[in-house]
Amino acid sequence: MLDFLNLDELLTDEEKLVRQTVRDFVDHEVLPIIEHAAREGTFPLHLVKKMAEIGLFGITLPQEYGGAGLNNVCYGLAMQELERGDSGIRSFASVQSSLVMYPIYAFGSEEQKRKWLPRLASGDAIGCFGLTEPDAGSNPSAMITNAKRTANGFVLNGAKMWITNGTLADVAVVWGKLDGVVRGFLVEKGMKGFTAPEMKGKHSLRASVTSELVFQDVELPEASMLPGVEGMKGPLSCLTQARYGISWGVVGAAMACYDSSLEYAKSRIQFDRPIAGFQLTQDKLVWMLNEITKAQLMCMRVAQIKDAGTLRPQHVSLVKRNNCEMALTIARMSREIHGANGILDEYPVMRHAANLESVKTYEGTHEMHTLILGQDITGLAAFAG
Ligand code: FAD
Repeated sequence: MLDFLNLDELLTDEEKLVRQTVRDFVDHEVLPIIEHAAREGTFPLHLVKKMAEIGLFGITLPQEYGGAGLNNVCYGLAMQELERGDSGIRSFASVQSSLVMYPIYAFGSEEQKRKWLPRLASGDAIGCFGLTEPDAGSNPSAMITNAKRTANGFVLNGAKMWITNGTLADVAVVWGKLDGVVRGFLVEKGMKGFTAPEMKGKHSLRASVTSELVFQDVELPEASMLPGVEGMKGPLSCLTQARYGISWGVVGAAMACYDSSLEYAKSRIQFDRPIAGFQLTQDKLVWMLNEITKAQLMCMRVAQIKDAGTLRPQHVSLVKRNNCEMALTIARMSREIHGANGILDEYPVMRHAANLESVKTYEGTHEMHTLILGQDITGLAAFAG
């Protein structure tokens, strides 16, 4: 695997072990089946328990609640290896860990934590995170999903869209407004008035379930609300966790494209020599090497900051923005190096390229992260008007 600056030397034995464990899992369990799953447009559900067994859900959460209690380098390396397999498989783990287990851990009551975290960690329960709505994407604070107080709790109305794992989920972390203030609610599968139809027709993240969530007068008990947070801070702090994992994950997708490109370029003969011997091909391969190495360094540094507790969301915007753009460009370049073969599912590059279109868009588009960083350095917000 590409490690030009010997970043391995910076890793502890535990971090290397986590990476190797997930690497083996991807090589033996994901790569053999992923092209078929993507072609069929299905998520390989049988992988969930296996992912749980190697501790992929709640990697950084305390063992007391079923987490693995590991540091953020371990978490990042695990996401890198998973996405070397497929962005859809990494998305499943990101949602389960960062967007469902994290808010329940950080903002949930003790009862909510005890009820859900061990089951989510073991893969006995699946979760999803409902923030985006048909008319509220980059600006989620414009959401119309709302809860009203009743004698016993709340009644929830509204709709979410583009929700990863929605149809599969036993529990949905849903963000809606209560008296005009954003709050988090745990909505359980089978509750009357709650449906989660799968969205079809995706050209991207085909090995991942994406759904609508529809709430029609869903009656929720008082204990379904996350008591520990209110306002946009709730969903945004979850997104910071998930975006961190994405930043590492896409490096894995880029590494897979680089490996395939290098191997292909060395064996593909045109004009009586391997195409790797042409300067224009070497320019592409060296660009990939350069950009992946820079992205790896950024990931390591952000992991250190996160473990030190000094991470700001803007740090994550910088690395998510850079690494998604880098990985998508490398996937497209990799397709060029593979020529016509690049469009076949015999090679992973077109699948990665298609997946990365989603990854560049979700969890804050490239443009949104540009504006977040622009505001950070100038002090001027350019989101509206
Ligand atoms: P829009 O907000 O409509 O943006 C369209 C374009 O306009 C973008 O290029 C955007 O950058 C640009 N734009 C918008 N506002 C501005 C501005 N002020 N200045 C400059 N440019 C601007 N959401 C969830 O809640 N949970 C999930 O699990 C989830 N999973 C997803 C899975 C997939 C496969 C995908 C594709 C999306 C998922 N999402 C999920 C939704 C995702 O987070 C949104 O798609 C994303 O936030 C962008 O919103 P939008 O698609 O509505 O685009």
